[in-house]
Amino acid sequence: MTRGVAILGSTGSIGRSALRVLERQREHFHVVALTAYGSAERLREQAAAVGASFTGLVNGQGTAHAGGVTATGPESLVTAATMNGVDIVLNAIVGAAGLEATLAALREGKRVALANKETLVMAGELVCRAAADGGGEIVPVDSEHSAVLQCVTGRPDTELRRLILTASGGPFRVWPAERLRDAQVEEAMRHPTWEMGPKITVDSATLANKALEVIEAHHLFGLGYEDLDVVVHPQSIVHAFAEFVDGSVLAQMGYPTMELPILYALTHPNRLPDRSAPTFDPVEAGPLTFEPVRRDDFRAFTLGVEAGAAGGTAPAAFNAANEVAVEAFLAGRIRFGEIADVIEGVLSLHVPRAARELDDVLSVDRWAREEGAKRCSSR
Ligand code: NAD
Ligand code: MG
Repeated sequence: MTRGVAILGSTGSIGRSALRVLERQREHFHVVALTAYGSAERLREQAAAVGASFTGLVNGQGTAHAGGVTATGPESLVTAATMNGVDIVLNAIVGAAGLEATLAALREGKRVALANKETLVMAGELVCRAAADGGGEIVPVDSEHSAVLQCVTGRPDTELRRLILTASGGPFRVWPAERLRDAQVEEAMRHPTWEMGPKITVDSATLANKALEVIEAHHLFGLGYEDLDVVVHPQSIVHAFAEFVDGSVLAQMGYPTMELPILYALTHPNRLPDRSAPTFDPVEAGPLTFEPVRRDDFRAFTLGVEAGAAGGTAPAAFNAANEVAVEAFLAGRIRFGEIADVIEGVLSLHVPRAARELDDVLSVDRWAREEGAKRCSSR
């Protein structure tokens, strides 16, 4: 019997990679539902190609697609995530908009293959509780976290001592601090090793992405912030290191592609053969180099990790401020260096409190967006 998959955000970079992976694994999986924000035409084509019976268009007019149901509005995400016949929800939405669908799927006991890291950052405790209450399972799609999961699977939690996530360093890895401040959008969009949607591409240039990933790792693997490290590794071959209590270190490596972590999120703890996976040549992949993160120059990273360590609602404030600032940067309203200024300004006003209920998180998310937006327009 094949397992049913819903892809939330199927028109994006991860969504399209997932459709390629699933196309090769048709003996094991079938696509039940697809959702997108606004690309109605593309969504219809995708649904027709894979025979999905449900499509959800968050921002658009409803028209029934051949052989299926089309729903519109943000509620269509929860509908897709909780449908009968859906075993795995691949959440490939960008930003806070993916939260409710993740919570709903976990409460229904489904596996959530989670690319949408922002929602684990803003509401980590709630998401983990939803999984525990409903019997659902969160499996990371992010390549670093997939790497860690592959290293720790089959071992008791008590054996893991520390994690080191790798960061490519982004397009500005070696830029001097003075030049960074005025980096242009086109320059930020030129990521050296990964091709991704615009928001995460900017996050990779500021290294805010790596702070989001440290917080994500905290929730997924239960380690304190003192045991979560980051190292810059420009070749993006080693995806993460897991250090165990006896000092042994395992790393997962491979050429940079999201297709492997997507496939593994579907098959964990097992593996399936993938005829498209390249064979690995260490000579071609190397030499592999590692360097420290420039914490003083990439302040969005440092601020994010501090927000993670502060806990409670601080990561939600960080995430929202960052989302607003990235949008403003992409729209040409603020300079690259001001992304960190906006985040810093918002966090300096935020008094973190417990993030036990959805309302705690959503109200801080709203507040931080308003505060952030003020800072973006007053420039
Ligand atoms: P993208 O911008 O290419 O795609 C985003 C998808 O989400 C699109 O299908 C879009 O229609 C949908 N969407 C956008 N706003 C929405 C909203 N308000 N409501 C509902 N749907 C909405 O982004 P991406 O690069 O595919 O990234 C998706 C997620 O995966 C992000 O959280 C990102 O951090 C994470 N991720 C991406 C990569 C990568 O290689 N692209 C790697 C690791 C993690
Ligand atoms: Mg990553």
